[in-house]
Amino acid sequence: MRIDVLTLLPQMFQGPLTESILQRAQDQKLLDLRFHDLKEFGLGNYHQVDDSPYGGGAGMVMRADVIAPAIESVETMEEERGFGSLEVLRKCIQPSKPQNLKTSKPHRIHLSPRGSRLTQEKVEELAKLPHLLLLCGRYEGIDQRIIDGGYIDEEISIGEYVLTGGELPAMVLIDAIARQIPGVLGKDESSMEESFSVALDRKREYPHYTRPEEFRGLKVPEVLLSGNHAAIDQWRKDHLS
Ligand code: SAH
Repeated sequence: MRIDVLTLLPQMFQGPLTESILQRAQDQKLLDLRFHDLKEFGLGNYHQVDDSPYGGGAGMVMRADVIAPAIESVETMEEERGFGSLEVLRKCIQPSKPQNLKTSKPHRIHLSPRGSRLTQEKVEELAKLPHLLLLCGRYEGIDQRIIDGGYIDEEISIGEYVLTGGELPAMVLIDAIARQIPGVLGKDESSMEESFSVALDRKREYPHYTRPEEFRGLKVPEVLLSGNHAAIDQWRKDHLS
């Protein structure tokens, strides 16, 4: 799966996406992440990306005439040409080998508190798509004409609170999607029986315990030590919430 990210702060993605499972997914060419610095599409000598809001008020708004060309450039970017413009990330995230020279139209998502709330079902749906584009806002957000003009397919919020930018939400989305891609999780990390999965009726998972059997007076529920698999399954079913 390919994910292109449009952001003013590409460096933020280093670390969360270059460790552990997500780095392994990229090494194994299961996940092809590409970062694009919106500043490169900025206007004039200062690469201006934002401006004051019509109607007045505090804060700055990201300009439509900066964002639209950035989205279009990803859309017309050949598979081969791709790969993020960011030196610091290039060192850490190796580009996937190009499969072909075709361009593929991405499903375009704007991370926004005004979007629909992200759910596991939505994550599963998005994980089936071959190519996503994530647009990260900053400041007061983006000019509404990016939405109204059809440059974005959907707006997603990661919860009802406001963050300083769309980068953390994009990372949340990438992480949640990546673990749904077949092969990304090892055998011991299966995503089949997890909170909100179909296998668990979309409920919250049962509690887990490991050694020691007794920790500061707190014991592991007896049934989990019994070796009686039917009873254990029943206990786990009873402890979904
Ligand atoms: N003025 C906006 C908030 C802007 S916050 C409002 O009141 O709705 C700046 C950017 O952070 C947004 O453009 C968006 O990309 C991102 N962002 C902030 N909170 C978010 C959330 N809960 N989910 C997804 N993106 C969020």
